[in-house]
Amino acid sequence: MSDKHADNPAGEENLDPVFISEQQFDKAARLIRHLKKGLVDFLKQPKRITIINFPIELDDDSVETFQAYRVVHNRVFGPGKGGIRYHPDVTMEEVISLAKLMTWKCALVNIPFGGAKGGVACNTKNLSERELRRITRRFTSEMSDVIGPYTDIPAPDLYTNEQTMAWIYDTYDVLKPNNNNRPVVTGKPLGMGGSPGRHEATGYGCMYAARRFLSKALIPGQQDFAGARVAIQGFGDVGSMAAQACFREGARIVAISDSQGGVYREAGLDPKDVRAFKSEHGTVVGMPDTMTITNAELLELDCDILIPAALGNQIHAGNAGNIKARLVVEGANNPTTPAADEILKKKGVYVLPDILANAGGVTVSYYEWVQNQENEQWDAEQVDKKLRARMYAAVDTVFERWQSYAVSEQSDGDTQTPDFRTIALAIAIERVTEATLLRGIWP
Ligand code: NAD
Repeated sequence: MSDKHADNPAGEENLDPVFISEQQFDKAARLIRHLKKGLVDFLKQPKRITIINFPIELDDDSVETFQAYRVVHNRVFGPGKGGIRYHPDVTMEEVISLAKLMTWKCALVNIPFGGAKGGVACNTKNLSERELRRITRRFTSEMSDVIGPYTDIPAPDLYTNEQTMAWIYDTYDVLKPNNNNRPVVTGKPLGMGGSPGRHEATGYGCMYAARRFLSKALIPGQQDFAGARVAIQGFGDVGSMAAQACFREGARIVAISDSQGGVYREAGLDPKDVRAFKSEHGTVVGMPDTMTITNAELLELDCDILIPAALGNQIHAGNAGNIKARLVVEGANNPTTPAADEILKKKGVYVLPDILANAGGVTVSYYEWVQNQENEQWDAEQVDKKLRARMYAAVDTVFERWQSYAVSEQSDGDTQTPDFRTIALAIAIERVTEATLLRGIWP
């Protein structure tokens, strides 16, 4: 396990992703009665880790070797499911922790998939489209006995997109002909077996989760998005769609960022204009009539709702005390560290955790997989309606459990109401544990 203390803005906090996921698991497991001791190891450990190294010929005829990972954490509920990210900082530990997150996420929203994740350590900003295609094809061919429509199903994540998924499908289909291979990967382009609404799903799902949560009236004066000041870190698939959805709900999007920095406008930004500017200039920075801010400043802005939708560990021991938002909606995976969770809780800032807030992506990935079985395509309204219902149901489940703790805290005064992450995780762990025991321990 790597030691990430050095050069760490979070100070002494250990940011090792596996360490963090174990801390979160242990905290949630304390809420579960009769959790069989021997099962804990099974639930914590990944089922399978695949590491590969492969060479790619670059456009200048040089050769570079890339390392890639695919991890299946748990398959009790069904095939492994989880995105593939292309990022220079991808490590095995990160992929393991993200695979675990997928297990809990699928269980929380009742999707019949297990948890998996993949990654290639590479910098897409320095690679041409042809190089990315070669990396994707080689990765897929080396993983062709690892992934499969009923064993382990990839999807997009950081710096991968619909095009990447189309290449994965094509490569797999060439290698394994004579089958309907469309369900081997989700997040495909609409013209190639994708689902209407998949591109929007994670961002819209964040909005639906937040909308349902706001309606519970825990935040004084903010029972819906109307007039809410929203700051969004990251303007990719998740951030841009979350911005669009919140804007339509009447929110004021005061700040948006990408890897190069952020922009702030007190009167609010129209996500449509931000998208147009970014597609022309490659970044949101420099948009007319905006103030340039850093990503660190964006997180600490005076706003009502903060949506981290980029990288992990953005809200940590070093900056959680300065967060002014009243609600954090985790579009990204693992954006908040355990130390930050504690600080935010003390400050009265609510956090809708990743396994709840960004579960819209895997939800519509599941709908895509179902459509692919029959070579059907549903319409966008149908997908959106089903997504909304599932997000609302998940928020209600977590909220009701939270309320039961909050009520007992009021009556006996000596219990600590757990935060929403811990409760969501406990519900998911309970479900996976129950299914494991119902299936029976093999042999
Ligand atoms: P993406 O590649 O489409 O977009 C990433 C965005 O983050 C870009 O705007 C990029 O400029 C920005 N970014 C990169 N480095 C940054 C930095 N240092 N500071 C600020 N911004 C930075 O990725 P995505 O698919 O939108 O995924 C974003 C996050 O959401 C990831 O944590 C991912 O795991 C999570 N997520 C994605 C999905 C999905 O369906 N795509 C589903 C669930 C969770």
